[in-house]
Amino acid sequence: MATAIEPVLRNQLVDRREKLQAAANGFHRPAELARLLNEVDDALQRMDLGIYGLCEVCHDTVETERLIADPLTRVCIDHLSAKEQRALEQDLELAAQIQAGLLPAAYKSSDGWEVAYHYQPAGALSGDYCDLINGNDGSWMFMVGDVSGKGVAASMLMAHLQAMFRTLISINLPLEQMVERVSRVFCESTLPTQYATLVCGRVGNDGEVEVCNAGHLPPLLIQNGNVRTLAATGLPVGVFCSESFSVSKFQMDIGDSLFLYTDGYSELTDGNGSEFGVERLSRLLEGNGKLAPRALIDLSIRELSAFGEGRAPTDDLTLMAIQRRSN
Ligand SMILES: [Zn+2]
Repeated sequence: MATAIEPVLRNQLVDRREKLQAAANGFHRPAELARLLNEVDDALQRMDLGIYGLCEVCHDTVETERLIADPLTRVCIDHLSAKEQRALEQDLELAAQIQAGLLPAAYKSSDGWEVAYHYQPAGALSGDYCDLINGNDGSWMFMVGDVSGKGVAASMLMAHLQAMFRTLISINLPLEQMVERVSRVFCESTLPTQYATLVCGRVGNDGEVEVCNAGHLPPLLIQNGNVRTLAATGLPVGVFCSESFSVSKFQMDIGDSLFLYTDGYSELTDGNGSEFGVERLSRLLEGNGKLAPRALIDLSIRELSAFGEGRAPTDDLTLMAIQRRSN
């Protein structure tokens, strides 16, 4: 495996060997020290032979993030021992519980608004971001986003995004400035390949809604049976450290709904490889825009399941429906 990280891991291993040798005198367990040294030397030798990072059982590539976490890793995730597998499963289960605890309360039915969402990870953990936050001036915010990648790494970035928004809301910044700050911190604190698409909105008094769409799939606004798409107004957050964003403003009257989703929904494919698509979703909403948010989401999930002939989504999936119910 001649990847870009191998020189970095080699330096770490050489450094580790030096530390082990330096510690040799004070080491109370010489056998343990010899074993560790042996493992480090083995790894360095595998690098010299050009077989480092290949699973010793199946010869497939070992997952890069696992090598970074432990450069002595010798097998891919499929070939861990039963004990290692169990430890990993327990870790994931705990992480999934923590992620579920980060989700907002299922319903927000105050000030004449009702919101429902559906959050479905493809694996144990989701890289989708879904949140509802109350501001301190009577306004409230909604977010649906999708962090690059999947699994554990993406779920950590999702938690990072959420913490930033929840902290920033108390400062009452204009929406575009809030997203700009989040984007800058996200860019500075993540790898260059990591970013997030995001729709972030603020609901004020009298049905005033502001939306910033940072490179995400267009939310759909349903008014009197007509569906309008709210196209992206900027790049995803975290692509560049000095991005600027703009906001679109509109009015939602009683009975109007706003529908947000991630690509786990719109890009699910049927048996022929055709995607469900935004068009199909738009048609579905056109005929059912008056349904209450929970009913609309349940219907959307049933439609998707019928389209995919019951296949489970292979990507993280999030839906959110927001409706103005009364004054
Ligand atoms: Zn393997």
